[in-house]
Amino acid sequence: KELGKNTYQFYSVDMNMAHQMSHLNLENALRFALERQQLQLWYQPQFDLMTGQLAGLECLIRWQHPQLGLISPSEFIPIAEENGLIVPIGDWVLNEACQRVQRWRQQGFAVPRIAVNLSVRQFRPDLLLNQVTKALQNSGLPAEVLELEVTESLIMTRINEAVAILHQLKQLGVKVAIDDFGTGYSSLSQLKNLPLDTLKIDRSFIEGIPEQADDVVIAETIVILAKKLGLNVVAEGVETQAQMQILRDMGCACAQGYFYSKPLSALDLEAHLVHSAKQ
Ligand code: C2E
Ligand code: CA
Ligand code: CA
Ligand code: CA
Repeated sequence: KELGKNTYQFYSVDMNMAHQMSHLNLENALRFALERQQLQLWYQPQFDLMTGQLAGLECLIRWQHPQLGLISPSEFIPIAEENGLIVPIGDWVLNEACQRVQRWRQQGFAVPRIAVNLSVRQFRPDLLLNQVTKALQNSGLPAEVLELEVTESLIMTRINEAVAILHQLKQLGVKVAIDDFGTGYSSLSQLKNLPLDTLKIDRSFIEGIPEQADDVVIAETIVILAKKLGLNVVAEGVETQAQMQILRDMGCACAQGYFYSKPLSALDLEAHLVHSAKQ
């Protein structure tokens, strides 16, 4: 019995160490990821549900690690937020996205919008305005093409700061989308006072369409709300034709998801743009 207990304790400490080691290794490797050019942006198209035309792209970060392969953002963005690396990484994302899309536009591809995800650590008045202004200047991208995605919970936990920052962004001419809308408990009166452009219906609601009646009702309510507030609305995580048709019938403006396309590397997206330009 005694032995069993000791063995268990030893095993448990060992496991814990292994876990911390790998976290530490990942964190250390992440410090060099930027300068070693291991970070990449992938692009997922968004489509206008009425015309079927490309409405925009959302850029999603990937880490191409030489040993571990392609690492998803949910594995390293939390680490980068914890240790502050998200600030230089976020700055790189903004610059890379603006430059890439401006180059595509100059090559004649109609990319009306590029959406970039922001982390809570970037959401500071001193930092963000500077980062965004420089990214626009360096790339020459028109401000109205850039849309910044902030989650509903981020805005609501920093509501006072958020109002000021969003007004400053509006003055710059960039657009703002609320990501994961419907999951962050915002009050509608707060929403009304924010200078927003787009609501993104969270994937968790789209997933339940058409089987879950309440998800259908929630999605439709968000579409109506957006319309009444004069906002654009994007459904995320659209995977089936049935979901696409139901959303279109509701009057949802835009959709994004595996039904249309998974996120693509810049090279693959470029091939896709060339192909659709020829049609
Ligand atoms: P998000 O902003 O909600 O991005 C949508 C996620 O859903 C992406 O995962 C995308 O690949 C995935 N997705 C898109 N369509 C479908 C679909 O039809 N079905 C399913 N099942 N999934 C779909 P990804 O690329 O792994 O990104 C995860 C999260 O990481 C993002 O969630 C975002 O919060 C964060 N993230 C990604 N790139 C950045 C970045 O550059 N900066 C920051 N701060 N966060 C980022
Ligand atoms: Ca997003
Ligand atoms: Ca989202
Ligand atoms: Ca999400």
